[in-house]
Amino acid sequence: MRANITDPTEAQTRLRELFNGHRRAVFFGGAGVSTASGIPDFRSVDGLYHQQFAYPPETMLSHEFYETHTGEFFAFYRQKMIALGARPNRCHTKLAELERAGVLSAVVTQNIDGLHQAAGSKQVWELHGSVHRNICARCGAVQDAAWVLEDGREDPRHIPVCPVCGGPIKPDVVLYGEALDDRVVEGALAAIASADLLVVGGTSLVVYPAAGLIRYFGGDTLVIVNRDPTPQDSLADMLISCDIAEAFDF
Ligand SMILES: [Zn+2]
Repeated sequence: MRANITDPTEAQTRLRELFNGHRRAVFFGGAGVSTASGIPDFRSVDGLYHQQFAYPPETMLSHEFYETHTGEFFAFYRQKMIALGARPNRCHTKLAELERAGVLSAVVTQNIDGLHQAAGSKQVWELHGSVHRNICARCGAVQDAAWVLEDGREDPRHIPVCPVCGGPIKPDVVLYGEALDDRVVEGALAAIASADLLVVGGTSLVVYPAAGLIRYFGGDTLVIVNRDPTPQDSLADMLISCDIAEAFDF
């Protein structure tokens, strides 16, 4: 029978036991991993956005909006998507520890905040890209998030141009209407397919490609850590429904 754990202390014990018993664990995380670091899930509808911006987040996060309302796109990007003050939480730091210990082989994430790398993780597949890479469409020069913020310090709607060649800069973030990077998807799939333990956390498992990716898992134990039920819960060997940063505080 599937275990359904709600007590954080029990979740910590079970997760510690599971990771101790595996050598190719993979963690697959979504927005819930970062909300514990104070980063809002910008894909969820939030009244604040409607007060501050004239368009809903899903519109402003589309490729078409980037092309047609570039200044407003960068205002949203700078004010809502880049969160340089955020720090890794216990989930991020524990995953980095597990990688160093040779237990965890990769992190697959839907988040774009770079917090896994900030915590020390090396093998991170960023399905939706990262705000820490902002790439010139003409020459390929890469600017970090701090540069983009500084460039918009006086006017957040200012459209950044490449300091090397003057070309247009596009955040390396997968917007609605854009395809995922094949190399990243293949890397994530390979990691999941060769994993012996898969822990999925902080994602509703509704949005593509999350729902499809876990079907490639062929290991012995699938754990889902999420506050709310997901449509994939029946596939899990263990369900943990408590705060993810707390569950990983072991
Ligand atoms: Zn350039």
